[in-house]
Amino acid sequence: MTRRDIQLMQEKIGVTPDGFWGPASIKACQEHLRKMAAQPNQWPAQDEVSLQKFYGSPGDTSQLIQLQVSDLCIKYDGKKVKTITCHKRVARSLGHILEALCECFPHIAAEYAGCYNDRLMRHGTRPSLHARGAAVDFWPQVNGNRTQWPVVAQMPLEVMEFFAVGGWLSAGAFWGRDAMHFQATR
Ligand SMILES: [Zn+2]
Repeated sequence: MTRRDIQLMQEKIGVTPDGFWGPASIKACQEHLRKMAAQPNQWPAQDEVSLQKFYGSPGDTSQLIQLQVSDLCIKYDGKKVKTITCHKRVARSLGHILEALCECFPHIAAEYAGCYNDRLMRHGTRPSLHARGAAVDFWPQVNGNRTQWPVVAQMPLEVMEFFAVGGWLSAGAFWGRDAMHFQATR
């Protein structure tokens, strides 16, 4: 993002718009997003015990459903997506978020990069939230795992806000990288 983009974000989250994304901006951005979620947040904490209790085991396909998205504008590899395999407990919330995304950011909705995937976290030994069908990725080309957000990565704050309203966590705002990734945890 440009310095001006970052200044606009800083104005929105209520810190000095100096164009420098430091600890104060990071903290304010996280608070800004957390405040948008309905309280109490319906999603589990990120520890394995909470995840297991709420979502069941990673790779348990009996927990998954096919979310119908054929009336939306989501594309994968340039091809229209008709269904998304996700955890049954996130389907309704995800559907609402995707509607908003298609309406306001169709170019990002057209860069869908997957939901359910029975794999470990990148560089990790714990199962990814993708392995429980409770995470989605968008626009990986410029929002990768090693790409710093928001200085280099391009995911707009407004997209994170759509997810935040549903209580979802945006990796870019909370981990400063992997901005393509959104997951249904607190
Ligand atoms: Zn992801």
